[in-house]
Amino acid sequence: MNKLVTILVIFFMVSCSADRTKIPCYAWLGGPGNATDSDLKAQFTDLKDKGIDGLMYSAGRDPEVYKRIGKIARETGLKFYTWIPTLTQNNNPDMKPEWYAVNGIGESAFDKPAYADHYHFVCPNRSEIYEYLDKLYGSIAEIPEVDGIHLDFIRFPDVILAKGLWKKYGLVMDREFPQFDYCYCDKCVSDFKAKSGIDIKAVKDPSQVEEWKQFRYDLITNLVNHLADVIHSKNKEINAAVFPGPNSIARKIVRQEWDKWNIDAFFPMNYNDFYLEGTKWIGDMCREGVAALDDKKPLYSGLFICPDPAGKSAEADPENHGLLPEELEAAIASSMENGAAGICLFTPDRMTEKDWEIFRQAIYKDFTKK
Ligand SMILES: [Zn+2]
Repeated sequence: MNKLVTILVIFFMVSCSADRTKIPCYAWLGGPGNATDSDLKAQFTDLKDKGIDGLMYSAGRDPEVYKRIGKIARETGLKFYTWIPTLTQNNNPDMKPEWYAVNGIGESAFDKPAYADHYHFVCPNRSEIYEYLDKLYGSIAEIPEVDGIHLDFIRFPDVILAKGLWKKYGLVMDREFPQFDYCYCDKCVSDFKAKSGIDIKAVKDPSQVEEWKQFRYDLITNLVNHLADVIHSKNKEINAAVFPGPNSIARKIVRQEWDKWNIDAFFPMNYNDFYLEGTKWIGDMCREGVAALDDKKPLYSGLFICPDPAGKSAEADPENHGLLPEELEAAIASSMENGAAGICLFTPDRMTEKDWEIFRQAIYKDFTKK
């Protein structure tokens, strides 16, 4: 009899949970640091219980580490994507100085990165970079415990910074400036000359040359589509963190024409505070992205969470801003009502208890596309 009751209870629980449609939720997460397997298991179980379905997990470049963590994530019922920067290569002994991107005043991102110390971008137009990334992502895609590859920094450095960051860097970026404009390495300059007949180094204002912009959108698109072939040939998925848009922002500021990318899912970083915008804007960005993709590929709305809601108003650095708990439901609603397939949190570590409380309710609500 007890057994029968147990079976009935389980059946009831399963049918209830099947009735409750949940918004698909992903999270960007880094690790593992010194965490043991049981620490990771506990962390992932907690995230799964809170409503996270899959991880974009950053743990360096060692396939063995991803194998270990992927196994635990998959056992916990989480999808597992490896989050490894594509075109920023910092402290990587496999890189040669001449592979790095060069700006419009001849400085290399190898030793003179723009804006930040981690902005060591390599040139996306070099066969050596193609070969390196094939090998890196290809070997990780072969790991059975990995669902797919998540690209990030798959772009040029910001030729225009998001408006919310101007003050932090002491810049007014009302136009493209040559020191933030890439790539003027010998190969890019000569390939563009061969293609268009234009010597871009002789042009007074390269920002006015539409073919030069398109040439660089295509460099990124060609690399992504090449990597997509590599990963798909191993029967794995490939997706990417992208800037919002594509047309209103991503193309203009980081030269991503991501609606032309042959990947399986898109994770626009709809980080509203970086653009001095609110939650309605998050929806606008989702609507634009879904329309650009012709609603054929899933778009997960990347949400930037405020790590310290009480201190936000006193915090000068926008990279420590983000959504407050009272904005979280509106951000999720706005994403879903504008066609997102789900959301992605940056990051679960930034979520407060209050955030989780609101999140756990919101992800079961019906925010049908309007
Ligand atoms: Zn180049």
